[in-house]
Amino acid sequence: MLNIVLFGPPGAGKGTQAQRMMDATGLPQVSTGDMLRAAVKAQTEVGLEAKKYMDAGALVPDEVIIDLIKDRMKEDDAKNGVMFDGFPRTVPQAEALSEIVNVSIVLAIDVPDERIVERICGRFSCGNCGVVFHDQFNPLPANGCACGSFMEKRRADDTEETVVARLKAYHQQTAPLAEFYQKKGLFSLVDGDRDIDLITTDLLAAIN
Ligand code: ADP
Ligand code: ADP
Repeated sequence: MLNIVLFGPPGAGKGTQAQRMMDATGLPQVSTGDMLRAAVKAQTEVGLEAKKYMDAGALVPDEVIIDLIKDRMKEDDAKNGVMFDGFPRTVPQAEALSEIVNVSIVLAIDVPDERIVERICGRFSCGNCGVVFHDQFNPLPANGCACGSFMEKRRADDTEETVVARLKAYHQQTAPLAEFYQKKGLFSLVDGDRDIDLITTDLLAAIN
């Protein structure tokens, strides 16, 4: 059982790295952001509740997130572990997680604030397969998306205005988790202000 937490500010590259490590680790990516966006789209009760927070760049209440994770971890593909992407984001979430599974390692992707706006405002993904791209830093290949059916998708909350709120939420509510996991000896910091492939190599080395 290997449970990896990918930690870092919005736009640090957590999703990008999780997608790249899926084959090497054999573990699924569990993104609370993706789960919430699916709930918003399906207009479920959770989605309707979460949307107002997400639109404002604020964190969704802990109880909602913890219930989502409890259900997700009951699924069959989670039995050998998962890569958490964007969870936990508060100390109460981390405390709740420790009651559900053992965290094996926290991989923190370190990116300075001044890089975050350009990363988030250039982000797009393939609506068909979910792969994340960037206008400048990780463009769509000339021959298209590897899935063969590229559909451009941009997030409604990937605006400069919302990024400021999301970064503030990160520093106030999420950053204190670094100390929480340092004390447990689980925290591993990687320089995220470099080439995507170099970061993947370092993250995989930290896991092994
Ligand atoms: P997160 O999941 O942490 O919010 P993403 O993986 O979605 O972050 O990455 C945010 C944006 O930055 C995407 O457009 C992605 O292509 C781009 N990106 C990811 N890693 C890097 C990197 N090392 N250098 C430059 N751009 C990156
Ligand atoms: P990012 O690219 O900023 O890391 P995510 O896709 O992880 O974005 O999250 C998008 C939004 O979903 C957040 O701004 C927040 O409103 C909500 N969200 C996602 N994960 C959590 C969580 N663990 N706790 C609270 N809110 C969350």
